[in-house]
Amino acid sequence: MEKINQLLEEFRNIAENPSKQLEKFLKQGKKVIACAPVYTPEEIIHSMGLIPMGVWGADMEIKEAKSYFPAFICSIAQSILEQGQKGYFDGISAIVIPSLCDSLKCLGENWKYAVPNIPFIPMTYPQNRKNEVGIEFTKASYKRVIKDLERITGQKFSEESLAKSNKIYNEHNEVMRQISDVLVDYPFITASQRNDIFKSAYLMEKENHTSLVKSLIEELKKMPKEENKKIKVITSGILADSKNLLEIFEENNLQIVGDDIAHESRQYRVDIKNDGNALDGLALKFSEMDNCSVLFDVDKKRADYIVNMAKVKNAAGVLMIMTKFCDPEEFDYAIIKKACEEAKIPCIPIEVDRQMVNYEQAKTIVQTFVENI
Ligand code: SF4
Repeated sequence: MEKINQLLEEFRNIAENPSKQLEKFLKQGKKVIACAPVYTPEEIIHSMGLIPMGVWGADMEIKEAKSYFPAFICSIAQSILEQGQKGYFDGISAIVIPSLCDSLKCLGENWKYAVPNIPFIPMTYPQNRKNEVGIEFTKASYKRVIKDLERITGQKFSEESLAKSNKIYNEHNEVMRQISDVLVDYPFITASQRNDIFKSAYLMEKENHTSLVKSLIEELKKMPKEENKKIKVITSGILADSKNLLEIFEENNLQIVGDDIAHESRQYRVDIKNDGNALDGLALKFSEMDNCSVLFDVDKKRADYIVNMAKVKNAAGVLMIMTKFCDPEEFDYAIIKKACEEAKIPCIPIEVDRQMVNYEQAKTIVQTFVENI
């Protein structure tokens, strides 16, 4: 148990101290590239000997960014810009911002003027990502990112090196899928500790994160499975890393047994096929990704995906963690809610915002949800 606590403490320390991690990398003489949500081709950055570091904003008061964004842009995009303006990312070589939603498109354009000391690299994804033309488009966008990275950092890209990084990322995907499943049998691990495991992945070199998660899995498996008296739930949304919210889950005896969170498991569902050209494999991976609000899908299969997950995991309900002003998630919510109702699975929305200080409303929603089920 001591070893488990040590590992959990390590994940927490890393997750809570992104600046310390950045400082550590810079002191080691490494070049760091910030990776904005939702899907950045980290594998390319890793393969060029650079450190990809996830930036998903922070819970903070937003002031400076308001001179660039109107108030109705999500607080993830706003707080990333605010952090850039306030110097949180000083020392970083560049930021890659994908074009997967309108807020992110604006973030990239605003970044150029608001944070001129850190170059902006756009990653433009196609809406129709599955056909031959879409895959070619993705590949061409990756090539553009590579060119910008080479110019800015002086590092070189090679196919061989990308093939190695693709394997490292696949292994990490596998281990993250495993930990999500293993944690179900050990409900003493809190929602907040679960989140630390996922959040720290953005702040470490992937091979190191893989080995830390593997150690945790090994240690957990040495223990007998716990009798589970918690209420099992599925979470869905873009981001669910607010400590205040996760504590409310704990207070109400909820256990997250699976998630459809963009910041968590959505990253790890699809592996890269390593049987050909490495860059083709990466473009193909993007074409195969699904069940996400920012990935175009006329059939909105995500709703059935969530219903199915709730059934497989025997969850008592689905908590939709809605980032305020996130259009893609709001469009999907109505469809997911309907699918859950048809399947008789309780589904509740909890609105969150990176500037939120009062969680009373969220608390009442969770309490009511628990009482109802
Ligand atoms: S939370 Fe929604 S609106 Fe904001 S960056 Fe993410 S996908 Fe875009």
